[in-house]
Amino acid sequence: MTARILAVDDIAANLRLLEAKLQAEYYEVMLASSGPEALNVAFTQLPDVILLDVMMPGMDGYQVCTALKADARTQHIPVVMVTALTDSTERVRGLEVGADDFLSKPVDDATLFARLRALLRVKQVQDAWRLRAETAKDLGLESAPEPVISVTGARALIMAEIPQEMELVRNALQADSLKITAVTTIEEAQRLLSKGDFDLALLALPPDATEVLRLASRLRAQNNTRDLPLLLLADTAQKTQVLRGFDLGANDHAFRPLDPNELRARARNQIRRKRYQERLRAELDRSLEMAVTDQLTGLRNRRYVRRHLDGLLRTEEAAVLLVDIDKFKSINDTYGHNVGDVALREVAERLRVQLRAADVVARYGGEEFLAVLTGAPSAYALIVADRLREAIAAEPVRTGDVVLPITISIGVAVGGPGVPAEQLIGSADEALYRAKRDGRNRAYLADPELDKSGQ
Ligand SMILES: [Mg+2]
Repeated sequence: MTARILAVDDIAANLRLLEAKLQAEYYEVMLASSGPEALNVAFTQLPDVILLDVMMPGMDGYQVCTALKADARTQHIPVVMVTALTDSTERVRGLEVGADDFLSKPVDDATLFARLRALLRVKQVQDAWRLRAETAKDLGLESAPEPVISVTGARALIMAEIPQEMELVRNALQADSLKITAVTTIEEAQRLLSKGDFDLALLALPPDATEVLRLASRLRAQNNTRDLPLLLLADTAQKTQVLRGFDLGANDHAFRPLDPNELRARARNQIRRKRYQERLRAELDRSLEMAVTDQLTGLRNRRYVRRHLDGLLRTEEAAVLLVDIDKFKSINDTYGHNVGDVALREVAERLRVQLRAADVVARYGGEEFLAVLTGAPSAYALIVADRLREAIAAEPVRTGDVVLPITISIGVAVGGPGVPAEQLIGSADEALYRAKRDGRNRAYLADPELDKSGQ
């Protein structure tokens, strides 16, 4: 998979070396030789990953990373710090400002590329979600504020055979108020994680890591755990297995001896990333919901029901019921729009409860509703229409001191596969017209003969 990488280093020779390595793997490379330049490129070019030198004159890597993570345009872009420093306090400092990982100079190729692949895989999924959420927002829907993502209450599973290691990891994570579940076997880990309600799994590699890597790969393949962050705990001598783990689906790693602060920072970053993704998904769901919902009545809207009917008529028989509130204009004129809105909502609700879950009822126009019944023959559709009519006429709508007797008229039309939705709704409209003309509070079936003569 090709991707755009921004490499940042104040020393030209380092940049050229990185550029050559990345280009040899067919990555598209952008270069920056200072903090401000890096920010400028990042904000305007939006790379997929940033490789960031820590030690730079003026603005250093920590400051650059802080600025990137504080900006909505770049906060989701993975940052890998490249450093000669091996001190764990420096690593933790980088993780605290939101870096995803560290590579030490000179950069080891296998580690660099395994890391890039793992980061890009996650980013690709996130980008897809973000794009869809933004598309939904473009449909004219409100955009939610972006609160800081907290890790409080997140659920982490630790799998470790050695009790001392378990204790160390548990204590490190509990300082962040994570809820910890401890297991010692792969079977137990698999069983609990498959339920899908964890935010992070930390998997300790035993001397033979094969089965744990297999577990990582299985978790990645399953729906419930596809986006679960996996963090491997390993000996430095197990570097090859860790890199293999990245390719099989692990997201991050920490080497023994484990540093509690580093572990905590890595766990936090992984959980934030997962929650960010969940938020995108929830925003998308909400946006889509709003895009197909009539805001006043909560029913589906015209756009949705038309699509639904078009789709249905490709393969199925369907009945359409075009419903109109009788003399609605006089309600608005007499009592005002607020009372009119109450009446619309009440009628909508009564229609909704009368229909099956598989049926769709939408607000089709001002005081017009359209119900679509799947696979309903005309006799049945007419019975349903009469039931709807009865449900409205039986009980006046009450709001404050106002008691409104309301009735509806309904035109019913039935069509099979291949009938254009437009024509079916037109037939229902014609029947509705006759119902109105004959005195309202009626449900009429479209006359097929009349339809043909009308064409
Ligand atoms: Mg430097």
